[in-house]
Amino acid sequence: MGVRGYQCCFCGEGIGEDQGKFNLLDPCSIILIANWEKSESVQAEQQFFAHLSCFKNTLWKNVPVEVEELVRDLEQEKNS
Ligand SMILES: [Zn+2]
Repeated sequence: MGVRGYQCCFCGEGIGEDQGKFNLLDPCSIILIANWEKSESVQAEQQFFAHLSCFKNTLWKNVPVEVEELVRDLEQEKNS
């Protein structure tokens, strides 16, 4: 399945349809865990897909998103 098989949960578009929104790290997945402070037996998870740009635009301005730097670090480690 190509990146077009994923629908962004924020904008509703297929990921890869709009080059302006597309990031080389897409598609991104977001995992929501309900009941986070309770025991794992009553937690529930749901996975979403999104453009990284839509996710970043949805967050409050002071929330850091560090995945781009982290991926860069991983690639540097792999190549060293
Ligand atoms: Zn989107």
